[in-house]
Amino acid sequence: MLIVQKFGGTSVGDLKRIQNVANRVAATKKAGNDVVVVVSAMSGETNTLVGYAEYFSKNPARAEMDMLLSSGERVTASLLSIALQEMGFKAEAMTGRKAGIITDAHHTKARIEEITPKTMQNALKEGKIIVVAGFQGVNVKGDVTTLGRGGSDLSAVAIAGALKADLCEIYTDVTGIFTTDPRIEPKAKKLKRISYDEMLELASLGAKVLQNRSVELAKKLNVNLVTRSSFSDEEGTLITKEENIMEKPLVSGIALDRNQARISLMGVKDRPGIASDIFNRLADAEVNVDMIVQNKAHDGATNIDFTVPVGDLRDAKVVVDTFVQSGEIEDDSYNEDICKVSVVGVGMKSHAGVAAKAFSIMAQENININMISTSEIKVSMVIDEKYAELAVRSLHNAYELDK
Ligand code: ADP
Ligand code: ASP
Ligand code: MG
Repeated sequence: MLIVQKFGGTSVGDLKRIQNVANRVAATKKAGNDVVVVVSAMSGETNTLVGYAEYFSKNPARAEMDMLLSSGERVTASLLSIALQEMGFKAEAMTGRKAGIITDAHHTKARIEEITPKTMQNALKEGKIIVVAGFQGVNVKGDVTTLGRGGSDLSAVAIAGALKADLCEIYTDVTGIFTTDPRIEPKAKKLKRISYDEMLELASLGAKVLQNRSVELAKKLNVNLVTRSSFSDEEGTLITKEENIMEKPLVSGIALDRNQARISLMGVKDRPGIASDIFNRLADAEVNVDMIVQNKAHDGATNIDFTVPVGDLRDAKVVVDTFVQSGEIEDDSYNEDICKVSVVGVGMKSHAGVAAKAFSIMAQENININMISTSEIKVSMVIDEKYAELAVRSLHNAYELDK
């Protein structure tokens, strides 16, 4: 078999753990498999590097950020390769560039455009274990790019797809995908299987155990994805097609996203095209807008509220300011002390009442809901951040996810 194994930050968090990873990779190779390993930076390292840049600038150039941040993954890839060579294996560490990962030019959020796997294929033919630095690629101009936070998951899935690997294993610090973050609700249950679509919703709604774009790509390329722990041999969770899942629970999980901020625009000129102007300009600035609520107009003006990831707040403010200056928006305010809790499940497609139940639970706990959005398979609510954990636990309990 050809197996891609990705090890996250905690799994390579110190030198002992890198040796532990080397032992695991060695065992997979010894069992007769071809192995491509993808590694993250040591845990905390990417944040440390971001902090270094912020010491010098509030708004560092994104190209320089990519040069800087991509270095963390090079460290772990080289060290793991050295450890494997020392154990007597043929191994080679590769940057994203050498692995043939070509991206667009959107620094810090680049998309993979194609992978030219020749170099990796040749190395595999020579019997080498390949260790790729995750999270990075190169654009056509030869500049280093990075794939967005958590992007090593995407590197792994893309490489598994390009090499037509039999399996892509994501090793992390929990034993699989749980009904909710086990660090918030210890009663959370590990799922044996979950569909790509549900996993994509959970990941997009804040369950950072997998980067959402990696799940999207796994679905598109039909990659067999397994999430499991690098610290135990416990069986993990298979992320697979919906038809491969026998029992379809009404609700599969609860996600929490603390990383959201709410922007309120007051006295927005009520003319045709204003929403299009504001949100197109936000899109041009690569601000990721999520929920939008517009109130009924009064005296030729209206209020619009929307949410964005905290990391996009600065860029959003710049855009909003231009409308305030031109007089098309009277006033604006920002609130970072909010979070989004979501109930996810494919079973909702055919059952009414899931949303109503979520609202009742919030009412029972006296938690005020600020914003709501729903889709076929999810219900999301924006609430004050101080109620985040209470909301997650109450919903988990109400849908009997611990059973
Ligand atoms: P890595 O560094 O290996 O990429 P991450 O920190 O990105 O790991 O993701 C693993 C974390 O995701 C877990 O420690 C857990 O707290 C969190 N998490 C959030 N939601 C879930 C969930 N539904 N199931 C499992 N883990 C979850
Ligand atoms: N090191 C990067 C991050 O912290 C990528 C990753 O770990 O997947 O976001
Ligand atoms: Mg991660």
